[in-house]
Amino acid sequence: MKPGDLISQHFRLTSTQLSALRRLGVQRVRDLLYHFPARYESGGASSSTSQLAVGANITLFGTLSKLKARKLWKSRRNATEGYFEDASGKVKVMWFNQPYIASYVPQGTLVKLTGTVGGSAERPYIANPEVEATPAGFVPEGLFASGESARAPSIFAVYPETRGITSKWFFHALERIFANDVLTTLDDPIPSAVRERYNLPDLATALVWIHKPEKQAHAEVARKRFAFEEIFALQIARARERADNDTQSSFAILKGAELADTFLRSIPFPPTPAQARAIKDILADFEKHHPMARLLEGDVGSGKTLVAAATAYAAVNSRPPNRMSGNLQVAYMAPTEILAGQHFQSFIEYFKDLPISIGLITGSGCKKFPSKVARDSATDISRAQLLKWVAGGEIAMLVGTHALIQKSVKFQHLAYAIVDEQHRFGTRQRRALAQKETSYPHFLSMTATPIPRTLALTLYGDLDISILDELPPGRAKITTEIVKKDERDRAYEKIREHLARGEQAYVICPRIEEPDPQKINAIQAKSVKAEAKRLKKDVFPEFEIGLLHGAMKPAEKDEVMRAFAANEIQILVATSVVEVGINVPNATVILIEGAERFGLAQLHQLRGRIMRSSKPPHCFLLPETSGETSMKRLRALADSDDGFKLAEADLEARGAGDLYGRKQWGITDLGMDALKNIKLIRAARAEAAAIVEKDPSLAGHPALLARVAHGESLHGE
Ligand code: ADP
Ligand code: MG
Repeated sequence: MKPGDLISQHFRLTSTQLSALRRLGVQRVRDLLYHFPARYESGGASSSTSQLAVGANITLFGTLSKLKARKLWKSRRNATEGYFEDASGKVKVMWFNQPYIASYVPQGTLVKLTGTVGGSAERPYIANPEVEATPAGFVPEGLFASGESARAPSIFAVYPETRGITSKWFFHALERIFANDVLTTLDDPIPSAVRERYNLPDLATALVWIHKPEKQAHAEVARKRFAFEEIFALQIARARERADNDTQSSFAILKGAELADTFLRSIPFPPTPAQARAIKDILADFEKHHPMARLLEGDVGSGKTLVAAATAYAAVNSRPPNRMSGNLQVAYMAPTEILAGQHFQSFIEYFKDLPISIGLITGSGCKKFPSKVARDSATDISRAQLLKWVAGGEIAMLVGTHALIQKSVKFQHLAYAIVDEQHRFGTRQRRALAQKETSYPHFLSMTATPIPRTLALTLYGDLDISILDELPPGRAKITTEIVKKDERDRAYEKIREHLARGEQAYVICPRIEEPDPQKINAIQAKSVKAEAKRLKKDVFPEFEIGLLHGAMKPAEKDEVMRAFAANEIQILVATSVVEVGINVPNATVILIEGAERFGLAQLHQLRGRIMRSSKPPHCFLLPETSGETSMKRLRALADSDDGFKLAEADLEARGAGDLYGRKQWGITDLGMDALKNIKLIRAARAEAAAIVEKDPSLAGHPALLARVAHGESLHGE
C-alpha cells in the first residue's frame, strides 16, 4: 500500500461509502490519513453491572432485552422497563414518559448505555439512560489477535458526521493503513529543525496520535502539529508570492512626500495621525524599485479614500523614468458599479482644485473629468475614446469595476493600482493588472472589514499592513440600542423623528422571502419583501419605501441605490447586501431585524452605513430570541465601536469559520482554530520566511513543496 494509491484499490467499498468518501474529498490513502477526527470520546466502559454504586454516573457496553411499556397504576405515567446485560451480569433499566422507546432502541445487539444508578445497593436500576446504537469507535474484545493493540484504547476518534460512512469504518481502515507500513514511506513536510524548536511530533507519530490516541494529551499534541503544518504551508505559499513580487520591477516614485503635501494642503482638513502614517508607509514603498504589496485596513469612515487620493496624486504627478514629459498612471478598482461611481465622485471632489484628469469605466458606460466645457464636472464619453486616452496617458487616473482589468484596457505607464474591498485579490489578478510592460504596478488593497491580526497575517501573509485605527474628528458618536420585543413601537417613533428631519433609514432583514410554511425547519425570520409591505401599510405610510436584496438584477439594484441616494426613497428595506461600502451620508438610522443571526463584524459593517456624517446616528438591534450568548454578543456591539476589538471578540466566541466563510479561504477547522493562537501564527510565519529566503524554489524541501501545492489547491486560487 502506498500513500498515493486509490482507497478503492485496497478496500472493498459499497457505492454509498464510495460517494460519502468522494463528498469528503477522500480518494487516496494519503487523503484518508489527512481526514482528521472532529472530536474524541472516552469509549471504554467506565463500569460493569457487577459493581454499580448508587448515584454514580456510569457507561456500560452490553445488550438490552425484554423491554416492555406499561402504565404505572398510581401516577398513570408511562414507563418502559427491561434488562441490560454485560459479561458480568444484569441490571434493571427503566424509562419514564418515553412510551415508544422500546420500538427504537435495538434489543439484542451491542449498545452503549450511559446514565445514573438509582435504587438501592441490593436492588439497583438505571433510570432514563441514554442509548447509543453503534458506539463510536468501540472495539469489541478479541478484534486484535495479539500483542500491544489487543488492549482497547480508552479514547476514540469521532469523525465529522457524513451519511454512509461511520467513525468505525475510519477506525478500521486506518488500522489497516497503519499495519501496512504506509507511515514509514511518508516524508515529513515540516523540517526536523522546525519540529524540534516547537516540540512537534513527526508526521508518522502525529498521524497515529491524531487518529488512534492512547490518551487525550497525544491527540492534542498531534492536532497542534497539524494546525501548525497547515498555517506553515499557507505562510510558505504567501512568502513565496512575496518573494516573487520582490523580484519584479516597478516605477520608483521618488518625490512622493513633496507631492502628497501639495495635495494635503489643498483640502480643507488635516489628515488624522493614522492617515498620515499610512501615507508615509506607502510613499516609502514607492521609492523602492520593486512593487509595493500592501493592505490598508481601516474601519468604516476612517478615511481610506483620502490615503488613496494623496498617494495617487503623488503617482500621477511623477514622470516615467528618463522622460521629460508624460506622467505615471493610477488604476482604482471597486467591487460594484455603484461604488465605482461613488469613488469617481469622491476623487473629483478631492482633486477639483488640482490639475488631474480622471476616467470612469464600468459595464454600463464611461465618463471623464474634467469635461471640456465645464471645469468642475464630468461628461459621458465613449468607451473607445476613453481607452484611447488611457493608452495615450492623457487620462492619468482610471476608476472602474472589473471592467478595468480587461485586456482591451491598456495603460501607457500604470504605476499604481488600488483595489477596494476585493477580499482575495490574489497574485494572479495582480498579474493581470501588470501590463505587457516589464513594470509591475505598486499594489494597495483596501478593506473596511476589520480582520483579527492572526487572520490577516495568515490570509494576507504576502502583504504589508497599514492600519487606520482612528476616525476623523468631529463624528457624532453612534448610539446602539438593543430593543426588546414590546419596545418596537418606540424604535419606530425614533426613526420617524430622523425621517422628519429629512434624514433616511435602513431596515435590515435576514431573509429575502417569507419561509415556506410547509417546511417546519425553515428559519422563521423576517423577510425583506413582507417587511417592506408591512412597514408601508402599517407603520410608515407617509414615506417612500424601497427594496434591495441579492436576488435582484444588477440594474435593478443600481436603480434602487440611485433613488435612495437622491432621497426619492426614505426607507431602504434590505438584506445584508448593503454591507459593502454603500455611502449615503444622509442615512442616519438603521434598524436590524433578527440581529442575533449576524456576526458581530457583519453587524458592525451594517452599522457603518450610518456613520458617515456629522449628524448623530442611531442603530436599533431587534433580536428574535433572547438567549444569553446572543444577548452578550449584541451587548458587546452596543458597548464598543471599535471594529478590530469586535472582530477579535467574534473570533473568540464563534470561531473564524462562521465569520469569514472558511470555505472561501480553503482553511480547515483545525487551521481556523489555530487562528486563535497568535504565538503559533507568528512562529509559523517566521519559520516560513526563513525557509523561503534561503530556498525560494523549495528545491531542498520536496515534501514541503508538495504540501504547499496541496494546500493551494484547496485554497482555490
Ligand atoms: P472609508 O474608510 O470608509 O472609505 P472615506 O474615505 O469614505 O472612509 O471617508 C469618510 C468620510 O470622512 C468622508 O466624507 C471624508 O471626506 C471624511 N474624511 C476623511 N478623512 C478626514 C479627515 N482627516 N478629517 C475630516 N474628515 C475626513
Ligand atoms: Mg471607502
